[in-house]
Order: sequence, then structure tokens, then C-alpha cells
Amino acid sequence: MNKFKICFIGDEGVGKTSIITRFIYESFDPETQSTVGVDFLSKTIHIENQSIRLQLWDTAGQERFRCLLPSYIRNSSLAVLVFDVTNQKSFENLDFWLQTVKEIRGEDVIIFYVGNKTDLTDQRKISIEDLEQKAQEKGFIYFETSAKSGFNIKQMFQKVTLAIMNNE
Ligand code: GDP
Ligand code: MG
Repeated sequence: MNKFKICFIGDEGVGKTSIITRFIYESFDPETQSTVGVDFLSKTIHIENQSIRLQLWDTAGQERFRCLLPSYIRNSSLAVLVFDVTNQKSFENLDFWLQTVKEIRGEDVIIFYVGNKTDLTDQRKISIEDLEQKAQEKGFIYFETSAKSGFNIKQMFQKVTLAIMNNE
């Protein structure tokens, strides 16, 4: 079976672990434990008559674990950069994360930007229009999700898988 490695990167608290948990277990825990180091989970996805094993690397944003990141990034086919749509800073910090990924994987790495926590509509700081415009300008793929409601989670993983398939 084909195996695709995908790493999830972004500030602490944006919902990386929750997105993965929602996808794998179809559940949401409002009090997730913060990730220590790097966690690993996998799930088989069926797409275009193929079964593909997705290996998901859930990283921690804390400074002290950053030294662990390069090896996970190097071995991944695609990086999902996650931010929280209610937290402007978590979006700005993606410039740093993008730089880190490019230094390790080069310019041709596939990157997805994911704005999470869309269920918190009244706390939203960055509009979808701004984000879609930025995505078009910079040429990245943009998705919005809510790990809490489950909005767009399956769709995002399907698009991620297709993007890797089309790149092989
Ligand atoms: P991580 O540090 O990026 O792995 O973030 P976590 O997955 O641990 O989530 C941090 C906090 O945000 C937790 O309290 C989650 O329950 C909460 N959270 C994650 N995703 C969502 C979401 O889509 N909506 C809402 N309202 N809260 C979320
Ligand atoms: Mg986590």
C-alpha cells in the first residue's frame, strides 16, 4: 500500500492535534493535552480506487522541541501549516514556519495552509476573503476547518492526499 507522510506545523494551540483527532477518531476533546515532542498517527484513506496509508506527524510548537522538527519535515511529502482564524499572530508566524519548511525541503515542497477554529465566528480576526486573496497571490492552497464541528476536515485530508498523488 502507498504510504504518504504528512506533517502538521504551526503555533501551539491552533488545533493541530484536534484536526488529526477529528479525522482519525471523528471526535473532539475541548481539553486536549498539549503535544510533547512529536506524535504519530495513521489512517487509511480510499481515494480514486486506491487505498493510501496516511502517516500523520503531529508536532509541538514549543521552542524546546524545534530541534526535532527537521527530520519530520524532511521525510514528509507535504506540510500542513495550521493557524487559528481567531489569532492573527498565529497566521503571521506561518511566515517563520514556511521558511523553516523551505530551508529543509526546498522550494518545490507542497504546502497547505489551514485556518482552523472557523466555528468561533464572532472571534474571527482574519476574513476568508483576505486569506483567499493572499493564497492566490502567494500560490498556496488554502483550506478552512473546524476540528470542533468537523467542518471541512475530511475534505482537507482528501485534497492533501490528491495533491501528493498528483505530484508523484
Ligand atoms: P495544538 O497545540 O495545535 O495541537 O492545538 P490543540 O489541538 O491542542 O488545541 C488547542 C485548544 O484549541 C484546545 O483547547 C482545543 O480543544 C481547541 N480547539 C482546537 N480546534 C478547535 C476548533 O476547531 N474550534 C474550537 N472552538 N476550538 C478548537
Ligand atoms: Mg498538539
